[in-house]
Amino acid sequence: MNPPAPTLPLISQHELQAMAYSDPLTGLGNKYRLRDKIKLLAAERAADPAPFAVGIVNIDGFKPINDLFGAHAGDEILCQVAHRLKACMMDGSIVTRHDGDEFAFILPLIFERSGAERVGQMIKDVLSAPYDLGDRNVRLSSSFGFAIHPFAGEEFEDLMKSAETALYRSKRRGRGQITVYSREIAQEMKRATQLEQALRNAIISDTIDVHFQPIVRLADSTVIGFEALARWHDPDLGFVPPDVFVPLAEERGFIDALSETLLRKAAETALSWPRELFLSFNLSSAQLMDPSTAANILSSLRRVGLDPRRLELEITETAVMSSADTAQRIISELQHAGVRISLDDFGTGQSSLGRLRDFTFDKVKIDRAFVSRISTDRPSEHIIKAIVAMCDGLDLEVVAEGIEDGSEAEKLRGLGCAMGQGYFYGRPADAASTRRYLHDSYRVASADLN
Ligand code: C2E
Ligand code: CA
Ligand code: CA
Repeated sequence: MNPPAPTLPLISQHELQAMAYSDPLTGLGNKYRLRDKIKLLAAERAADPAPFAVGIVNIDGFKPINDLFGAHAGDEILCQVAHRLKACMMDGSIVTRHDGDEFAFILPLIFERSGAERVGQMIKDVLSAPYDLGDRNVRLSSSFGFAIHPFAGEEFEDLMKSAETALYRSKRRGRGQITVYSREIAQEMKRATQLEQALRNAIISDTIDVHFQPIVRLADSTVIGFEALARWHDPDLGFVPPDVFVPLAEERGFIDALSETLLRKAAETALSWPRELFLSFNLSSAQLMDPSTAANILSSLRRVGLDPRRLELEITETAVMSSADTAQRIISELQHAGVRISLDDFGTGQSSLGRLRDFTFDKVKIDRAFVSRISTDRPSEHIIKAIVAMCDGLDLEVVAEGIEDGSEAEKLRGLGCAMGQGYFYGRPADAASTRRYLHDSYRVASADLN
């Protein structure tokens, strides 16, 4: 005889339906509910074609919360987020939970970009207040992607895909960003992905080149070193400037691989120059946040056989600022091995004189923006004068960047600036041309001596 069937608590049809459409953790609707709601709204709007918006919000840096404080703390935050989102919703809007730390909402009364951005900003502020975990508070930022129906997709799947694309772009740009999908943004993302693929291939096939621009002593125009500048010519994309592909490599997390090939090539070339010439190499800001940078650079130099005392590394203030302790450690370690550090693009960005005291730089490079205005603009002249005087007092060397003609060189010499660089002295050129240039100028120099 069969055992009696266990008696199940009776669940009504209504309750079953509610369960299928809700998220058990937060009690919000789930993605089936979102889908139905969007389909319904789209059908309603077919007769009255007013646009509406959907948004997706994702909590930045949520995963470490689970790892650090446990899944319970993560759940607690998700419930608090759900609660806050619900309180933000206006008439006719609903919020649902997708997966993990991703929530979605429909805004029936928002029909264009600025409206979506305004709502995004408001929700972002609400979500940025501290979360109470009993024994501690945590603060988290959030990223947003919006899509407007019907422009960003008429069907549910297409519309959500557009919102996801917008969210992905926000995430790529850092924390706390808001993006509303548009065709241009989709194009931009596609281009970036193509560029990324091509760049990865170029690194693997070792086709990124390094050019060298002379740095001279202004008193007699003799070359004292070269700055290495990355050059990439892709067969399909054409010439891509370094201030496009270097940030892309940083953003997509392969700046180490790129920088390592560049340094290797630059250092190999420098080996063929007279020993007294230095090589100046640009370090990207992401590398100053990575504690392994100093060891990587020193081992590259060892492999190539270049004396660390012939290397200068150019870094920017923004890089130093974003992670000051790590940056300071990297700098000290490199300086200990004999590498010298220059502060690049000085005078632009968020220059702080305090940083010159807190960090032990060897050299300051005055940004081209001041140099290019020196002939026409008195304030620029005074600024350069002040930078030179200050660097003298702090025992720092000074290089003026972007010297394009003789009168600028003359003026800078008059202001006491010891070194310079720019098209007037030489444009960046490949390794072979650089060797010829050196060969010629050294021949001239030795002929002068005879
Ligand atoms: P930067 O370090 O400030 O480099 C100087 C830029 O000014 C170079 O542009 C150079 O070609 C240009 N330049 C030099 N003299 C003159 C002049 O007289 N007039 C004008 N108008 N421009 C001049 P480039 O090579 O396009 O590099 C742009 C930026 O890309 C660099 O700015 C640097 O931030 C970055 N970069 C280049 N190569 C590398 C690299 O190997 N690694 C890293 N991390 N960044 C690099
Ligand atoms: Ca530089
Ligand atoms: Ca510079």
